Amino acid sequence: MKVIKIGGGCLAGRKVIGHIINLIEERCRGQIIVVSALKDVTNLLIGGMASALEAEENIPNIINRIKTRHMNVGRFLIPDQSALKDYYKDLNKTILKLERLYYGLNFTREITPRMHDMISCFGERLSAQLLTTVLRNRNVQTAYRMPHKIGLVTDGKFGDATANLEKTERNFQEHLKPILNKKMILFIPGFFGISEEGDITTFGRGGSDYSAAVVATAVNAERLEIWKDTEGFMSADPRCVPEAQLIPVLSYEEAAELAYFGAKILHPRSVEPIRAKKLDIVIKNTLNPDAGGSRITAVSPRSENIIKSVAHDTDIGILKVYGSGVGARPGIFATVAGQLSESGINIKSVVTSQTCISLLLTQKDLEPGRLALNKLKSKPFRKIEVNNDIALISIVGDGLIHREGIASRCFSAVAACHVNVEMISFGPSPAALYFITQKKDLTSAVVAIHSTFFATPRCEPL
Ligand code: ASP
Ligand code: MG
Repeated sequence: MKVIKIGGGCLAGRKVIGHIINLIEERCRGQIIVVSALKDVTNLLIGGMASALEAEENIPNIINRIKTRHMNVGRFLIPDQSALKDYYKDLNKTILKLERLYYGLNFTREITPRMHDMISCFGERLSAQLLTTVLRNRNVQTAYRMPHKIGLVTDGKFGDATANLEKTERNFQEHLKPILNKKMILFIPGFFGISEEGDITTFGRGGSDYSAAVVATAVNAERLEIWKDTEGFMSADPRCVPEAQLIPVLSYEEAAELAYFGAKILHPRSVEPIRAKKLDIVIKNTLNPDAGGSRITAVSPRSENIIKSVAHDTDIGILKVYGSGVGARPGIFATVAGQLSESGINIKSVVTSQTCISLLLTQKDLEPGRLALNKLKSKPFRKIEVNNDIALISIVGDGLIHREGIASRCFSAVAACHVNVEMISFGPSPAALYFITQKKDLTSAVVAIHSTFFATPRCEPL
């Protein structure tokens, strides 16, 4: 059995959803589908919390937008009028639960992390309900099961939960085994699970990929497919490098590095659960479903020049924390990292010298990060600088630290186009080298490195 994850990006308009339904009907009998919310619905749900908090009068409008979105798709894809009516009834029941939560939030006058997770998971619940109903109407044997009812157990950390794989596997054996068969298509909403205390907990934005990886691991699937509306992993972002090529096979390590710093193809944590069972993940393009896509495996063949991709990230900045004796005085880094973590700020990466700790944070975390560190009573640093006009470029390929000449080829290419490198990290990951440049230099650097490692044959003039 396969587990297939369908992303919100390919659940946009009615016609596109119709196309996905056809693909599911043709290709997914006997499989489990982990589904995201319809495109943008999670944003609507989260944005709705702020406006529900502001005024009770805003709630009907939020509810209407979410409900109409699903009704429109239902009307288009469920031709049978009485079936459509039944769908509306089910939809209303789910929407009523959501509405109560919004009123509760307004009444208690706060958006607690618990409430945030309870509300934001409704997109997935609604899409699973919708897709199941549409398929049932085509006489396809299908059902959905809510993750909190079948025991997808989490550690209880709101907004950033981790699944308990052992317990989840045990629960799935009990709840899912009896209902699965060769014809049945089973939907499970992605993005959330339930803690041992009984709280709905989400896996963070984009977390349906992670859910799907958990489900695939827990049911011992033969593989996990991630269906998207884009190609799989590419040798560079095609918007920068038009001749970028699809990467047909990657290792877990390579995929994790690329997911973390590069293209938003896969949630970076999706590889975690998969690793232990050595399952393959295949990224498939729903617009080109017969193509092979990108396969992520435990062992991937090395490409001749080692490098598989040149990725980049512009949603990044550096917090430079200056102090003397970073390498000699104990506890400096612990204090800085502890303070950021307590303020809910994620450190994406760290590069240090004896006089400065450079913390890579996402753009939105830079200013809150600076403020949090300045609040420290006894400051283990002299000054802090924020640098947000930068871009991170990474070259990724297993074994790059063991092959001589890679760094030299990379930086020669960058120097040849007169781009200055402001910081380098090389060594901590066996599969990635990354460095920082000014934002304005990003495209030239990426193009130069790509043509160094992926020389494309030039067209000869006629
Ligand atoms: N719907 C959630 C989000 O938008 C989870 C997901 O799509 O993966 O973040
Ligand atoms: Mg998504």
